[in-house]
Order: sequence, then structure tokens, then C-alpha cells
Amino acid sequence: MASRWAIYLRAFLIFGMALTLGEAWSGKAAADPLHLAIPLECTLGGDCFVQNYVDHGTGSDYRDYHCGAMTYEGHDGTDFRIPSIKIQKQGVSVLAVADGRVKAVRDGVPDAILTSATKADVAGEECGNGVVIDHKDGWQTQYCHMAQGSVGVKPGSRIVRGAVLGRVGLSGATEFPHLHLTVRHNGEVVDPFAPNLAPGSCSEKQGPTLFDEKDLTFDYHDRIVLNFGFVDGPVSGEDIEQGDLKSRLPDHDSQAIVAYVRVMGVKKGDVQTFAIIGPDGEPIVKRVFDPLTSPKAQNSLYIGLKRPKEGWKLGIYSAIYSISEGNMPKANKWFFLQF
Ligand SMILES: [Zn+2]
Repeated sequence: MASRWAIYLRAFLIFGMALTLGEAWSGKAAADPLHLAIPLECTLGGDCFVQNYVDHGTGSDYRDYHCGAMTYEGHDGTDFRIPSIKIQKQGVSVLAVADGRVKAVRDGVPDAILTSATKADVAGEECGNGVVIDHKDGWQTQYCHMAQGSVGVKPGSRIVRGAVLGRVGLSGATEFPHLHLTVRHNGEVVDPFAPNLAPGSCSEKQGPTLFDEKDLTFDYHDRIVLNFGFVDGPVSGEDIEQGDLKSRLPDHDSQAIVAYVRVMGVKKGDVQTFAIIGPDGEPIVKRVFDPLTSPKAQNSLYIGLKRPKEGWKLGIYSAIYSISEGNMPKANKWFFLQF
């Protein structure tokens, strides 16, 4: 046993030495860009998602680095979204993406969804509660829309990568719970998903990112089904954002069965189909929606039917939602309800 450990230890030391020497020989370490961790305590593509990337368009012609529409005009950062306000209230930590020193903080801005009526209230404080961190070699990161009272660092503090800065909130100019992260190098905005792209260009080929590969088991995705489920009656986009719809599951006494989805990053021309299948395996309601005339950052859809006179059949209901582009299926979701 002891000798096996000795072999492991020796191998480890030699490997470690090779790594150290490799860095020293290449002289690359100093010139390396900033390597970023994911700025939220979540799994990207699992329980958090990118809603908007940096705008690579020119003028009003916005586009993300992948030539898609998951951005908006002038967006200078990346929006890491969590699925609902319910989850935001439970608390999702905002994490420093790299070692550095805190340059500035703001706290005390209330958490509230932006409406046209409240736009003036956040003028000059669009970032809401936030943190700015200076990193090595002229790199800087800014974190926005954090929860009121959650910012736990002070200007001048040394911060290590992964340190908790606060929690995701709804402060400043935001319509959904997310962290906006801006990355700058020598004062210029850098898209961490495409740091090498020429200004004003985009590419469907994924190049190197600033994120560490071990942290970023991620590829560009649009048409992400963010929320889905069944409810017992009409449902609004706000209800979905609140994330409390589990309490409204239909049962055999309900006056209606409604299925809903909310999808991020749908494209112009996308055809969405939505159906509810009854316990005997036949669609009881089905709708093919007109092709989208413009891309949408997020899109909510509903389908449902009223309780028949004879009542609901007992058994398993399912809902099938799908998106296609021409004849090509692009995304789908199948979910179930039993009573
Ligand atoms: Zn943003």
C-alpha cells in the first residue's frame, strides 16, 4: 500500500513540476487573458442560463457573438438569468470571477421589476446594487442588479476567485432576476464568450472564451425552454416569473387544464406547436402557431381547454411543445400531469 502511495506521490510531484516548468518556459502566464469562473452559484445550462449576450451589432442592428438575437441594442455585458423570482428569493450567490480588489460597491437600491412607470426611479442607478472589481493587467469586472442589502464586500477588499459578493436581485433597470456581468480590459468592453471577435462581426463557430473550460460545460444555445408546467386556469407572464405555479396544479375538479411554456431566444420564422394529450393518448387540444415575424428574447405560450360537461377523465395528461425551423426540429419539451 505504502509503495503505491509513494508512486502516486512521485507521479504527482513530477506532473506538478512539469506544469510549473511549462508555464515558466512558455512565458505565457503573464500575457494570459483573465480566466473567469461562472459568476453565479449555479450550473450554466442547468439551473441558470444566459438570457442576453454582449451586442456585437452596429447601430440599431443588434446581434450576439453567434449572429443570433440573444442581446439588445447597446448591451455591454452578459445577463445570467435564474428561472424565477421564487428562486431569487431563496438566494443565489453572486461570485467573483477572478482574484482582484474591490474598486466600488453600491447597495440600498430596492428590488423591483422595472416598468415604464419606474424607469425614472432608477435613472443613473441602472446597475442597481453592484460591485466593481479590478483584476490584474487592466482587467475589470462589474456585477449588477444584486439583491438589496446583500452586497457583502467593501472597496479596497482583496477578493479571491469564487468569493461570495452578494446575491442575485432585481435592483436597478431589470425586468427579470439576473446578474449582469460586464468585463472590461483597459476600459473597453470585452465579450467573455468571444473575446477575439473583430468589432462589429459575429460567428456561428464557437471560438475560445475567457471562461475556464472546466467551469464552462457550455455551448451557445438559443430556444431554451426556461419554464413549463400545468395550471388550473389563465396564467400571465408575471405569474411565470414569480415561479409559484406549483400551487395551481389542476386536479379533477378544476374548471380548466392549461399548459404553459416560456422560451428564451426564439428566432424569426420559428414555428411553435403546442398540444395537450389526454389519458387515452389522443390530443385533446393542439395548436400550430404562426411563424414568428421577429426574434424574441423570451416568449410565453399557453394552451388549454375548459372542463367538459362529463368531467375530466382520470389518468395521465401530457403536454408537448416543439419549435421547428422549416422542417428542422430545433427544440421540444414534454411534460406530464396525473390525477
Ligand atoms: Zn444586462
